[in-house]
Order: sequence, then structure tokens, then C-alpha cells
Amino acid sequence: MAWGEGWQVRGDGRPADGTFCYLWGLNVSIYMAARIDWVEALKPLLRKYKGRKHPLKYKNIYQLVVLVVLSAQSSDDHINELAPSLFNAFPDMEALSKVEAAGLFPFFKGVRNFAHKADWLVRIAREVKTDSGIPLTMEGLTALPGIGRKSASVILREAGRPAEGVIVDLHVVRVAQRLGIVRVADPKKIEERLMKLLPEKEWEAGMAMSFLGREICRPKPECPLCLMKKVCAYYKKNFGL
Ligand code: SF4
Repeated sequence: MAWGEGWQVRGDGRPADGTFCYLWGLNVSIYMAARIDWVEALKPLLRKYKGRKHPLKYKNIYQLVVLVVLSAQSSDDHINELAPSLFNAFPDMEALSKVEAAGLFPFFKGVRNFAHKADWLVRIAREVKTDSGIPLTMEGLTALPGIGRKSASVILREAGRPAEGVIVDLHVVRVAQRLGIVRVADPKKIEERLMKLLPEKEWEAGMAMSFLGREICRPKPECPLCLMKKVCAYYKKNFGL
């Protein structure tokens, strides 16, 4: 349908499904998404994934920090494969602080941006000195090299600390756009939107959307299996309700 064609209005004044809205320049699926109470709509997702552990296989906070830094732009499965030999050689921050970055390269086979990550990890280890020196706050973590807001939020969640932000990874960017919660692809703006939209106790919704994106709402989504289809703009646009 070309822009502006098929304009129809229901008896209640709302644009009919499948038509384009002249006034706002939005199609009806986005119009409907804007009217959804997302605090309520995301609750089933929160219930499904509440408390589920992150796919990175860590045994303590030291390992968690290292794996989170390594996993940026790399798959969790690949990083999990490298973990045993890395932690066998460097069991804690103290051991890691004593190596030069190049000494980590043999452990980082196939890791994207491995040289920078090695440098960041050694600098982190030298800064915090011991495992107990790892700061478990958003401010403290993001002050360390190689740790941004998303990584810090993952570490805080897994460490059982209160959320200070909403996790927005590549999966969340895709899911939040498809659901119709946001129309932008910038993770920073998506996090800001989610933090405004949801009360703090629901900020776990980021990780819940991430799990949905890993399992169901993959690049090729399996919509018939999805518990969010009733509120999803993508589903409404492509399959109708
Ligand atoms: S209904 Fe489809 S597009 Fe929408 S969130 Fe679920 S899997 Fe993704």
C-alpha cells in the first residue's frame, strides 16, 4: 500500500487496521503499540525469565567480569569454550594483574577485538588488584576500561545487586523495536526510554527481552511460539490479530 492510500476510520475515530495515519505519519501497528501499557504487557516475560542465570558460565564475580568483557561482539558459547583454560592459568585478579596483555592472546583465539580486550582486562586487574576490589556499582564498574553500561548492568544483575539501568544488548535492540516500544536503534536511547517507561523494580525487563531475543525473537522470529504476540507491533503488522 502506498503512502496515504487506504485511509479508513473506525466508528470510534481510530484508524482501521492496515491503514496509514496521515496525522502522525505512523502506521497503525505503531499507533496501537503507543497505546499499550508496557508495564503490564511485559509482566509475562518477566515472570518467564525471572532469575534465569546469564548464559556465560562463570563461577565467581572475577570470572563474570572477565567473561562479560570478552563477550562483547562475540558469542557467549565461544567465550564459554575459552574460559576453562583461561581461568586455569589466571584464577583471580591478582594473577591477571601480573601478566602483560600479549600474554593473554593465546587464550583469546577467535575473539573479536582480542588485543583491546586483553589490554582492558590487565588494566582492570591492576586497578582493582583483588577479586574483592571489584566495584559493584554502575559508577565503579563503568569507570573501568572496557566496561560500559550494558556490561555493568549484566555484572550487577548476576551479582544480585540492585539494577541501576536496563540491559540493552543487540537482542534487546531487535526485540524492543519489533514489539513497538521504540523506533530507534541506539542502545543508549532505548535504555533511556525503558528506564522512563518502567518502574525500577521492572528493570529486569531488559534481560528478559534479551532471553526472548536469544530463544524466540531471533533474527528470523518464531512468532507463533511467542508469548508477546498479542502486544507485538511486528506480529500485528505481519500476521494480524
Ligand atoms: S511476536 Fe514475533 S516479532 Fe514479536 S516479540 Fe514475539 S517473536 Fe518477536
